[in-house]
Amino acid sequence: MLLSKSFIPILKNNPSEAKIKSHQLMLRVGMMKQASAGIYSWLPLGFKVMKKIEEIVRQEQNKIGAQEILMPTIQSSEIWKESGRYEDYGEEMLRIKDRQNRDMLYGPTNEEQVTEIFRSSLKSYKSLPQLLYHIQWKFRDEIRPRFGIMRGREFYMKDAYSFDISDEEAFYSYNKFFLSYLRTFKRLSLTAIPMAADTGPIGGNLSHEFIILAETGESKIFTDKRIFDLNTNETELEKNSLEQMRKKYEQYYSVTDEKFNKDEFEKVVSEENRLITKGIEVGHIFYFGDKYSKAMGASVDLPGGKKDFVKMGSYGIGVSRLVGAIIEAKYDDKNEIMKWPSSVAPYDIALVPMINKNDTSALDKAININKELIKNNIDSLIDDTEENFSSKIKKMNLIGAPYQIIIGKKSEGDLLEFKEIGKDTQNLSLTKIIETIKKQKNSN
Ligand code: ATP
Ligand code: MG
Repeated sequence: MLLSKSFIPILKNNPSEAKIKSHQLMLRVGMMKQASAGIYSWLPLGFKVMKKIEEIVRQEQNKIGAQEILMPTIQSSEIWKESGRYEDYGEEMLRIKDRQNRDMLYGPTNEEQVTEIFRSSLKSYKSLPQLLYHIQWKFRDEIRPRFGIMRGREFYMKDAYSFDISDEEAFYSYNKFFLSYLRTFKRLSLTAIPMAADTGPIGGNLSHEFIILAETGESKIFTDKRIFDLNTNETELEKNSLEQMRKKYEQYYSVTDEKFNKDEFEKVVSEENRLITKGIEVGHIFYFGDKYSKAMGASVDLPGGKKDFVKMGSYGIGVSRLVGAIIEAKYDDKNEIMKWPSSVAPYDIALVPMINKNDTSALDKAININKELIKNNIDSLIDDTEENFSSKIKKMNLIGAPYQIIIGKKSEGDLLEFKEIGKDTQNLSLTKIIETIKKQKNSN
């Protein structure tokens, strides 16, 4: 893609209305644009990143056997009246009347909708377990939408739902999602810590929030530092291994302020291991048994002829919030360098030819290099403008492709001036560069 033809409206300076670095950067490089309070249009750069995050989330859901569906954004109030949440949800729910004067709503979450789908289709324990998910826009009329897409009113969420025959089986499903969350955040190059959480309006008795550390986060957290050293890469999708994995995390004290108890914290965590800081909630999983299935009559036939309500859990990931969360974790705002993890970078590499009015040979060279990159499935952004070198690099540093090739005096013959963003340059052949990028991409 040529920069001159791209839709990347870059601002010279940080917009003053943005208080945290993700909001600043997203406005600065035109990743999104506010449409109204807490509601955004996604522009090409931001949309590319979000779609890549979405795809990783999807792959990791599929790996644990979850099946993708797509439920609507607009729901009927009837099912919410059945569950009792139509009144309880309060002002965060956007209520709409259709032309027949029926009460509709823009879904803030989908427990009711998915329970309705389940109860009308499946009747036997033999169909269990079922793990269903969708990736869809949600609307919550947040009282204080802020920090850009981090706390929007309209936001993009992956929400999954599990249906099981017993508590024991339901915990197995819960643990599958627990593992898939750890894997997902790792592929996004984030360290997300599972923390015991309150179940809030969703209700129920087992819940974890997945939180990444960030000074600007809205969740206050209290943890035993040793939890950061855990690694679960090799865990198998088998009942006992998953149980062990969750226990490994649960052995360390790790809670948000809703669950915090000072005496307990000081008793179980030695002083040198205590960490009190802030974080961003990027995911939240709940087990709530038959809360919705009972209220809405979602039952299955059991082996002996009896019936029972299915045991359910729900599992959310803030896909749009993750764009901001990754920026909070990776943006060096002092030096104005964004280092996108290669798994979600909007472009794999930036090409920066030094162009003079009467000499376009560097641009020609960049275009030839790009032909090779395209053959190798490497997506590049070429700065074909005549701006001076330092402002070109500044811009590419903000856009944040993980690698850069500078095509000028030092890129003579076969050796190109190449660098990983924010690091020193080296001279490499195009073949070597392609190899390096492909290796990095394959490791995602
Ligand atoms: P929060 O405590 O941040 O308000 P929540 O507990 O209400 O979130 P959940 O119902 O658990 O949110 O939703 C699942 C995920 O969706 C959250 O972990 C978060 O990543 C994301 N999310 C929730 N609300 C918003 C929002 N207003 N804007 C962007 N993402 C959100
Ligand atoms: Mg939550």
